[in-house]
Amino acid sequence: MPHVEDIIHRLVRLYEEMDQTYTAAAGAASLSCAECNGVQCCTVDLILHTFGEMALLQRGFLELPFDVRCEIKDRARLVVSYRDRSPASEEYRNAVCAANFEGNCMLYEYRPMICRLAGIPYQAVRPDGSVIRGSGCTRFQEAVQVAHPELMIDRSQFYSDMAEIEIDAVRARRAKTPARTMAELFHGFGLYQ
Ligand code: SF4
Repeated sequence: MPHVEDIIHRLVRLYEEMDQTYTAAAGAASLSCAECNGVQCCTVDLILHTFGEMALLQRGFLELPFDVRCEIKDRARLVVSYRDRSPASEEYRNAVCAANFEGNCMLYEYRPMICRLAGIPYQAVRPDGSVIRGSGCTRFQEAVQVAHPELMIDRSQFYSDMAEIEIDAVRARRAKTPARTMAELFHGFGLYQ
């Protein structure tokens, strides 16, 4: 029966593989996030589905200075209140992730898969054989796409490996992981271990 530490260890290894793939693809296209405030990629209250990703974010959160933890929780509470008032509202749809401080992700080392792979077009083959595709960020579309129209990351193996880790986490915990938005997750974090 896998322990939480084992789940996190496997997740960190998977993140390393993602980072290597992403770095190679970005390098091939000279795509850099330098001086990007990240607001486009971080202006979505992303939904997380896996225990490991949530647990790792919590670990990173608890390592932050106390005042930063408080600030993230305050910001997250605000985003949740926007969503509760109206999920379709401009204030919710334009809300920046609570961990984005002036363009810097305060949880960069712990950020989830969706953040790690954002920016470069992708495809993924689902278990039923259907294919999903997504586009790159604005910078990619404006500065890279024309010169590298074929560049994309195949996320299929990453999704499959992530699903395996989550299946083991659910078995070990005997509980499914309720999906949470980033704001809900941060809002629910305790300030102390
Ligand atoms: S966790 Fe970091 S990279 Fe991901 S949306 Fe939030 S600030 Fe952006």
